[in-house]
Formats: sequence, structure tokens, C-alpha cells
Amino acid sequence: MKENRTENQENGRQQTDAEQRTDIKSLPYPQLEQWILGQGEKKFRARQLYQWMHEKHVSSLDAMGNLPGSLKQKIRKTCVFTVLEQMTCQVSAQDGTRKYLFGLADGNMVESVLMRYHHGNSVCISTQAGCRMGCRFCASTLDGLVRNLTPAEMLEQIYRISDDTGERVSNVVLMGTGEPLDNYENVLTFLRMLTDEDGLHISQRNVTVSTCGIVPGIYKLAEEKLQITLAVSLHASSQEKRKKLMPVANAYGIHELIRACRYYFEKTGRRITFEYSLVAGVNDQAQDAEELAALIGGLPCHVNLIPVNPVKERDFTQPTAKAVQDFQKRLEKYRINVTIRREMGRDIDGACGQLRKRFAERQDA
Ligand code: SAH
Repeated sequence: MKENRTENQENGRQQTDAEQRTDIKSLPYPQLEQWILGQGEKKFRARQLYQWMHEKHVSSLDAMGNLPGSLKQKIRKTCVFTVLEQMTCQVSAQDGTRKYLFGLADGNMVESVLMRYHHGNSVCISTQAGCRMGCRFCASTLDGLVRNLTPAEMLEQIYRISDDTGERVSNVVLMGTGEPLDNYENVLTFLRMLTDEDGLHISQRNVTVSTCGIVPGIYKLAEEKLQITLAVSLHASSQEKRKKLMPVANAYGIHELIRACRYYFEKTGRRITFEYSLVAGVNDQAQDAEELAALIGGLPCHVNLIPVNPVKERDFTQPTAKAVQDFQKRLEKYRINVTIRREMGRDIDGACGQLRKRFAERQDA
């Protein structure tokens, strides 16, 4: 931890010229090789450096045993070396879910969650500090967007968690704070580095990108030739209702969104996941289910029903367990694949953005 802090403080002091510095941990291997060659170093140094960062996850340049001191010095002087600092970790007594709060070099904080399933460990990461999408039920957006996360800051969330637990991470979901398609280039670089054989080499099929519905981003993503799963936060079955819950619907209408989803499936062959948070009396009625079935009919997809997670600042309430089951059954009548999301970590501020916000509030108090 100590080493870790030193690097961060060093980065903190360098904030003013941070933009001119090379963000070395965000460079995919070919670019890192170019950078190394540009420094007049031998090519094999790129491989060594990449391994220290992305395989061994060392939190300090000092730990890079086989690199010459002169190269480390050069990196210190001209690069940003991103390391996240673990601020807190809350462990759920119910299901072993671990929720982490990490500090970034500029003092911002992001949260990430480790969920243990029978099929392996899944890490949910944040893609932005804050969010500007304004979804009414979501805690992450309450204070707006602070900034985009870099590829290194996204990778580090996973590296720190897998090192902390000593367990392999097999699935990654981009469902923490932030809108991945609002930070498109960094997210794409991150996805390639994450699934690359030189790094953690996580299977693309085990990676899910969740979006509130930024239509141009979906079309762009469809062309990337990735085998990732696209999750779309739908939460309503009509444009009118969706607009009330999600301001993004003002920019991209619900039918336009579904068209983009059909295109994504045609291009990638990957079934779409629709996220649908059920809010009592708002979008959980029989008519909502019927409309939803008509809306997504014929599109190879999977619907994930999530009883809304109550957020202190909002007065949305969960439907009863029976209402949730009824909603599921109605969709199933149309042969739609539906699961009810098992709530994990409810006892540890499980919902997006809640931990970060509570922590900041405690610090202010
Ligand atoms: N911006 C992306 C990813 C982050 S949110 C997106 O919108 O998909 C991850 C998921 O959690 C989204 O489906 C979001 O709508 C949902 N979510 C946010 N707050 C919630 C809450 N209080 N209860 C239930 N689901 C919530």
C-alpha cells in the first residue's frame, strides 16, 4: 500500500503537466512498443514492461526487477503510471459480494464490485467518475459527470480486485458508474487490452457493455468485430414512459434504439440483453409487459428484470415479489427469455453510485 501511495502522490504533483505525459498503462502493446523504440530502447523492454503492468500488476516501478534504472527514471519523468488506491472494501455477509472504493490520482473516487457466481467471478467496473445521463432512479448521476476514466483506470479496478482476493476474474461487466458509450475511445482501448492475449486475456464473450441507449455508439460498436454482449438499459416499453425515467430518450427514441439493437445482432450475432428495472406503479403493470413483448418481439434477446434498488435521494419503490413474477410470466408467454436478477450486496450499498456518494458525504460531515 505504501509504495502505491508514493506513486499516486507523485502522479498528483504532476497533474498540471499530466496531459503532456504518456499514460503508459493505457497503451496497447503495439503502441507501447512504439514508445519504447522512440526512447531508443530495445524492443524486448516493451514486452517486459507490459508484463509487469498487465500480467503481474505491480503497483510500483521499483518492483520491476529486470528493467534498467535509466528506463524507470525516464518513465518517472515523462509518463503517468496509474495505480488505484483502495479506500474501502465492504464485504456482504449475505453473499460474499465485495464492493470496493478506489481513489484516483487526482482525488476522485470510483467504485467497483466483485460478485461470486457458480460460473466464476464477475467484476463490475466504473467507466466514468460520475455520469451525465441523468437516469432518475440512479445514484451515480446525482452529482453529474466529473470526468472520463482512462483505459488504465478501468484495467486497474480489475487488477486490484484480483490481487486483493487472489482469485481469477472470469467475467467483466461495464455496469458501474458512468456511461461506457459516452467514453467510447477509452472503453474500446480498454476492451481490447482486457481481452488481449498479452493481458488478462478474458474471453470477449464474458464481457458485457451496458448502455443507457446512445444509438450512434451502438452502431459504431457493431462495426468493431467484438464478441462482447451488449446490454441495453430499457426500463420502459413506451417512449413516453422512458422519457420520464431516462432523459437520454429525448435524444434517441425507443424505436430508434430497438432498430440499433437489431442491427447490432445482425452484425455480431450476439443476443442483446435488455435491463428492465421494475418500479412499483411506474413500469410494472400488465400493460407494460404486453407492450414490452411487442416492442422486442422477434429480436434474439434476453430480458433481465431488476427490482429497482431504492436510492435514498429518490422515492422509487420495488414491486412485490409476486408482481415481479407476474411480469416475468407475461413475457414468457411470448417466448421471451427472462431472468430476475438476483440482488447481490444489498446490505453494502449495492446499487450504482451509492457507496461513492455515501463515502463522500461521510468525509464532508
Ligand atoms: N450507463 C450504463 C451502465 C451503468 S448503470 C447503463 O445505463 O446501462 C448499470 C445498470 O444499473 C443500468 O441498467 C441502470 O439503469 C441500472 N440501475 C441504476 N440505478 C439503479 C437502481 N437504483 N435500481 C436498479 N437498477 C439501477
